[in-house]
Amino acid sequence: MTASTDFLAKLNPSQRAAVEHFCGPLLVVAGAGSGKTRALTFRIANLVLNHRVDPENILAVTFTNKAAKEMKERIEVLFAEQEAQAKHGKSLSALPEYEQTKLRSHVYKNVTKYLWIGTFHALCSRILRFDIEKYQHPDGYTWKKTFSIFDESDAQTLVKTIVTKDLNLDDKKFNPRSVRYAISNAKNQNFTPADLEKEQPNYRGRMIADVYRHYEKALAANNSLDFDDLIMIPVKLFQQNESVLGYWHNRFRHILVDEYQDTNRTQYDLIRLLTTNGEDMAKFNDWRNRSTFVVGDADQSIYSFRAADFTILMNFQDDFGDGLPDDDTRTMVKLEENYRSTSNILHVANYIIENNTERIEKVLRATRGEGETIFCYKADDEIHEADFVVGQIRSLEYQNPELKWGDFAILYRTNAQSRSFEEILTRYSVPYQVVGGLRFYDRREIKDVLAYLRAIANPDDTVSLKRVINVPRRGVGKGTLDKLDQATQTLGCPLWEILSDEGSVKTLAGRSSKGVLEFAGIIKKYRERLDNAKGSEIIQELLEDSGYIEALKAEGTEEADDRIGNVQELYNAVLQFEEENDDPSLLAFLANASLASDLDNMEEGNNRVSLMTLHSSKGLEFPVVFLVGLEQGLFPNFRSLEDPAATEEERRLCYVGITRAKERLFISYARERRLYGHREPASPSLFLGELPVDYVTTNSGLGMPQRMTTPIRDARSEREEAAKPGSGAHEFDWNAGDVVVHPSYGAGEVTHIFGAGNKICLAVKFPNQGRKIIDPKLTKLQRAE
Ligand code: ATP
Ligand code: MG
Repeated sequence: MTASTDFLAKLNPSQRAAVEHFCGPLLVVAGAGSGKTRALTFRIANLVLNHRVDPENILAVTFTNKAAKEMKERIEVLFAEQEAQAKHGKSLSALPEYEQTKLRSHVYKNVTKYLWIGTFHALCSRILRFDIEKYQHPDGYTWKKTFSIFDESDAQTLVKTIVTKDLNLDDKKFNPRSVRYAISNAKNQNFTPADLEKEQPNYRGRMIADVYRHYEKALAANNSLDFDDLIMIPVKLFQQNESVLGYWHNRFRHILVDEYQDTNRTQYDLIRLLTTNGEDMAKFNDWRNRSTFVVGDADQSIYSFRAADFTILMNFQDDFGDGLPDDDTRTMVKLEENYRSTSNILHVANYIIENNTERIEKVLRATRGEGETIFCYKADDEIHEADFVVGQIRSLEYQNPELKWGDFAILYRTNAQSRSFEEILTRYSVPYQVVGGLRFYDRREIKDVLAYLRAIANPDDTVSLKRVINVPRRGVGKGTLDKLDQATQTLGCPLWEILSDEGSVKTLAGRSSKGVLEFAGIIKKYRERLDNAKGSEIIQELLEDSGYIEALKAEGTEEADDRIGNVQELYNAVLQFEEENDDPSLLAFLANASLASDLDNMEEGNNRVSLMTLHSSKGLEFPVVFLVGLEQGLFPNFRSLEDPAATEEERRLCYVGITRAKERLFISYARERRLYGHREPASPSLFLGELPVDYVTTNSGLGMPQRMTTPIRDARSEREEAAKPGSGAHEFDWNAGDVVVHPSYGAGEVTHIFGAGNKICLAVKFPNQGRKIIDPKLTKLQRAE
C-alpha cells in the first residue's frame, strides 16, 4: 500500500494531531459531533498506511456491530481512494465500477480482513475461540472451543427452568427476569455464588445464590456462555495465564476504543491488561511501539444501568499516563469544533447540559450557520403529538426536494412510545423503520434453525437439542422428553450421549423412538460434514432434510409463508457472512448471530423514517430530528425523579438526542398521555424549562415569549399550500368515483374519502400501482373532468 497524507487534509489540526500521534496513550475528549469517531477511523488508516503497522496488530472497539461494519467500510474506502490516486491518478469514484470493485477487494484481502474491529462482546468471543480451553473455572468446569453463546432470552429460559424445575421455587416470587439480572450483576462485580450469599444473607439471597450455582453448572454442561462471561472470562483468563495474556498483548499493539465514556470496570480491566501485559503502570515502560487510544464524551454517558462508569474516562490520563512526563498535551487532545449541527441546535445542547454539576467543562464551537430556531410543540395527547410530527415530516419532505424519508428520525425515551407514531405513519403511507424492535435472530423460526445449527456444532448444547427434537413434529412427546431429561440428570451426561446410542433411545423412548432416532440421524449426518462443508451448504440441505420447510409449507398460512421467507433470509445471511469474513466457519457465524443486537437492524439507504429510543441513537446523525414526549416521569424517566445523579444522566440523554440533529430540531410534549394503559395528565419536562428562550419557537409558550401561536405546519405550509393552484383540499368537493390524475401514478379512481374539511384524505385506485391513500393538500391531483 502506498504511503500518503492526502486523506489527512480532511481533518482539522486537533483531529490531525490525534490521528498522527503514534505511540503512547492518548485520550480524545470532545463534545458531540466533533469528529471523534472520524478521528478514530482515520487513525486506523494512518497507522497502516503511514506507520506501516501490520493490520493484525490493531484492535478497535465500537459500541455496536453496525458501527464496526461501517468503520471497516470507511477504512476500506479510504484505502481504495489512496490506491486509486496512486495507481490511476484519479479519485475512486471516477473509476469504472469494475475497477472500484477490484480495488476494494484488493484492499479487503490485504488490509481490512485482518483488522479486528467490533464490540467488546464480539472481539472477546473471537479471543475465546482460540483460548477458552485454557481457562480454569473455580469449580473446575471447562469449556470447549465449540461453545454456544446464549443470548438474553436463552439465559432467561435457563434461569426459569432452574427456578421452577430444579429448585421448585415460585416463579412469581423469583421472577426469572429479576433473578437473571441479579446473577448478571453479581458476575459483573466478579462475585461468586458464595460472595453473593455473603452480600445478602437472607432467604432470598441464599436462593438466588443457589440459582446462580445451578446456572453456572448448566452453562458449563451445555458448553455455553452468556454475554457477561464473554468479557469476564478473558479478563480472568488473562489474570490466570501469563502466556495467553502475553500472546494477545504482543498481538494487539494498537488499541482504539470509541464511546469510552460507556465502558464498565470489566471492559476497562481488559483494555488495561492487554496494554500493560498485567504489569503495574508505574513499572510499565513499553510505550515505544504501542498505543492505547480512547475517545469519548462524559456528557454522553448514558449506560450506567449496564454498569458503565464515566469516571473511567476521567481517570484515563492518570491510569495510563503514569511514568510519562507530566504533560497533559502528550496524553490528551481536545476537539472543540462541531461539524454536525447548525449553531442554533448546538447552542441549545450546550445550554441544557450546563445544568449538570458532574461534568468537565468543555468548549464546543459551531462551524455551521445559524440555521432555524428549534420548534417546541405542545400537543393535547400522544395522538395529537404523532399527528403533528408526521404532519411536519410530510410537509418538510414535500417542500424540500433534498430531504428524503431517511433523513428524519423520531427519538423517544421508551420503546412503548413508538406505537402512536407507527399508526399515523402507516395511515399516511410514510415508510418507516423501528430500530431496536424484535431482533431478526429472536424470531421463532430463526431461533429454531439456529438451534439445529448449534446442536450440530456443539454436541453438548442440550438446550438447543431439546428445542428442536420435535420441531417439526416427529411424535416426540413430553413424556419421552421427561424420560430423556431424567436419564441425563441421573447419568450427569449431555443429552447427545443418549441420543447417539440407538439402544438407549429405544429403551427410553418406546414408541417415540422412531422420531428421536430420525432426529439424531440428522444431527449426526451434519456433524460429520462440519469440517468439510460450508455453513451455507449445511443450512440449505438441513432445511430440506429436517422437514422444517415442508412443515411450514403444509401450514399454508400467510404467517407460515412469512416464516419461510425469514428462514431463506437466514440462508442469505450465512452466504453474506461467508463472503465478508476472514473466519467464515459456522461457529463464527453462530457467534455473530448471538451477538447481533437490536440496534443492528437499522438499514441505511432504504429511505425510511427512523424511530428509536434515545439510547439507540448514540453516535448517529440525521438532518431532521424530533425529540418527543418531554414530560415529567417520561423524560426524565420516573425512576430518576428523586435522584439527582439519575436526573443528570437523563439530561445527558437529552444532550445526546439534541446533538443528533444536523439541520432541524423539533421538541414535543403532550398535556395528557395514555401509556401502559392509563390516560393521565402530564406535566412538561424539567428540560423544557431549561431551553434558552431566544432559540426556541413554540405553539404555546413554556413561560417563554411566544413567537408563533400555531404550529409551523399550520402557519407556514398551509399558507404556501393555499398559494399553490389546484392543490388545496378546499378547492374541490371530492366524491367517490371521481377520476383523478396523479403526477407519478397517472389516472386513478377515488374509492373512499376519509376525514372532513381540512383533514380530508382520499383512497385512490390506480390500474398499475394498486390502492394508495393520498392527502390532496400535499399531492397535486388533477381531476379529469
Ligand atoms: P458523537 O459524539 O455524536 O459520537 P463524534 O464526535 O463521533 O460524534 P463524528 O460522528 O465523527 O463525531 O462526526 C460528526 C460529523 O461531522 C460527521 O458527519 C463527520 O463526517 C463530520 N466531520 C467530522 N470532522 C470533520 C472535518 N474535519 N471536516 C468536515 N466534517 C467533519
Ligand atoms: Mg462518535
